[in-house]
Amino acid sequence: MEPQQRSPLLEVRGNIELKKPLVKAPSRLPLPGTRFKRGPDQMEDALEPEKKRTRGLDTVTKIATSQSRAPALTARTQTQNQITAPKVPKKTGPRCSTAIATVLKNQKSGPAVPAQKPGAAPPMVGGRKPTKRPAWDLKGQLCDLNAELKCCRERTQTLAQENQQLQDQLREAQQQAKAQGAECRTLEGELARVQAQAEQGQQELGSLRARVLELEEQQCTQEGLLRELQKEQLGLQEERRGLAARLEEQERRLQASEAALSGSQAEVASLREEATGQAALLVEQGERLHGLEMERRRLHNQLQELKGNIRVFCRVRPVLPGEPTPPPGFLLFPFGPGGPADPPTRLSVSRCDERRGTLSGAPAPATRHDFSFDRVFPPGSRQDEVFEEIAMLVQSALDGYPVCIFAYGQTGSGKTFTMEGGPGRDPQVEGLIPRALRHLFSVAQELGGQGWTYSFVASYVEIYNETVRDLLATGTRKGQGGECEIRRAGPGSEELTVTNARYVPVSCEKEVEALLHLAHQNRAVARTSQNERSSRSHSVFQLQISGEHTGRGLQCGASLNLVDLAGSERLDPSLALGPGERERLRETQAINSSLSTLGLVIMALSNKESHIPYRNSKLTYLLQNSLGGSAKMLMFVNISPLEENVSESLNSLRFASKVQLPPGPGPVRIPGCL
Ligand code: ADP
Ligand code: MG
Repeated sequence: MEPQQRSPLLEVRGNIELKKPLVKAPSRLPLPGTRFKRGPDQMEDALEPEKKRTRGLDTVTKIATSQSRAPALTARTQTQNQITAPKVPKKTGPRCSTAIATVLKNQKSGPAVPAQKPGAAPPMVGGRKPTKRPAWDLKGQLCDLNAELKCCRERTQTLAQENQQLQDQLREAQQQAKAQGAECRTLEGELARVQAQAEQGQQELGSLRARVLELEEQQCTQEGLLRELQKEQLGLQEERRGLAARLEEQERRLQASEAALSGSQAEVASLREEATGQAALLVEQGERLHGLEMERRRLHNQLQELKGNIRVFCRVRPVLPGEPTPPPGFLLFPFGPGGPADPPTRLSVSRCDERRGTLSGAPAPATRHDFSFDRVFPPGSRQDEVFEEIAMLVQSALDGYPVCIFAYGQTGSGKTFTMEGGPGRDPQVEGLIPRALRHLFSVAQELGGQGWTYSFVASYVEIYNETVRDLLATGTRKGQGGECEIRRAGPGSEELTVTNARYVPVSCEKEVEALLHLAHQNRAVARTSQNERSSRSHSVFQLQISGEHTGRGLQCGASLNLVDLAGSERLDPSLALGPGERERLRETQAINSSLSTLGLVIMALSNKESHIPYRNSKLTYLLQNSLGGSAKMLMFVNISPLEENVSESLNSLRFASKVQLPPGPGPVRIPGCL
């Protein structure tokens, strides 16, 4: 520790130790009345001052005692005092310094040892040994001793004074020590408190260090996070730059779009005006169109009526592979009035009657039978050419007029080929039924643009031996021909319906194809069980057409009937009749009856007779609503090209000629137009 911080208590103790010998030093002065027993050497030793002195007041006292008989003692004491004074310990507090200063002062201010009289005792000059008195000089020695005694007394007095001062100082020092002790305890208390504080501080420091470590860890984490964030920020800044560029681009585009938009808006405004005008025009056009459509329907119907509500077409099938080639000139198709450009309407059949002979025995010349029809299709005619001629009638059905198309002829003449088509799925040989329906769907769609909505419901039945069978039957009824009856749809209703028959809504060609396929299957099943029944039954495909113009509250409805009639051939009555033939005869009679009824009905309609014998056959009964009035009827007379079938061909041609409108007062024929 630094000298200034030394405890005052220690300093006082030092002072006490320093001055203790002064207080307790025993006096070695000879008691009065005692004599010195020492020899002269001893005296000399006693009087000889110590050359090697030690520091401290103790030494001073010893010297003073041992040199009590030396004449130069006073001078030595003074010197010794002068030497001792500076040797007061340096490490003293302010209070101790004050005490020592007081001692020195007292010593200085104390009575000095009186100087030896000159001549009474040998003087001591410059530290040299005083001169010894001779042994005999007892008086001188006594004198010296007296002087020394006197000096010692004075010295004793001085020392007593010093002692008193020192005791005062001691008391003062003790008081100071006491005060210092109290202060020390206070300081110790304070120290303890400070130490406690220090401990607490240490603990706090420890926790703070832990906290610092934790914070440093957090800082590390935060720094890592910061680095990541900085990296992310860089990425985001990059992205932001990209987005800003895109935004700029978008803004540029937006501006361009806005410019275009404003231009477009102006254009839209002008277009709106134009549209308003157009809408008005459209309404006007719609009205006009509707008027025209109605006019078209009227004119179309008028045209059909002019052509004849009952028309007959003749179609001759080609010679099939394996069949004998007919002789040349057997069938002729003479040109019409317009020459080869005119579609043929006439047919000439030459027949050689072997039973007839000339008188000379030579064979009779062939008889020519000429027929004229609304149209004649020679063997090479294609299916589409045939359909072209009936497309107008299909249009009439859509316009709301009932239409019946029959195929009449002997078995094998091409009726089914004409109505349904040839074998396979070759579109070239598609028959009238699929073509007519495709045409209907297409025209109905076109009329949809004018506000017309059409729906179609199909049925397909066959009439065999005056019984009706559903050709669209499925499931358990398939091929078995469940009981079907022709009934009126309701009491007082003109509409007829076939009970137990399926009426299938159709809207596309594929659905119709499926129905025809099903009918074909049903017929095939029947054919195996009842020999070639299909040829001996009428098959009737009916399509109920319903049209509606909701905008104008108009409705139209009609049915299109496509009938493949039973073979018109007759049995030769001269042939011997077995049990099978008898059955066949009954069938044939039923067929012939219904076909002749059909002929009669048509003729009655042509002649506008009051009674039409619809009820005479199931066929005419079923078709009665599609035969009279404004109904359109077309009959195909199918003819075999073979000579061997000439008889049946002539029969068919004659039948067809009968149902055709009689010439004369009938409708006016337009040249070049059917
Ligand atoms: P139908 O129904 O009158 O009994 P089909 O229609 O069954 O007669 O015809 C008999 C055969 O003659 C069938 O093989 C058919 O393919 C064929 N045929 C009929 N008409 C034609 C024609 N116009 N072109 C080619 N082949 C035909
Ligand atoms: Mg057939």
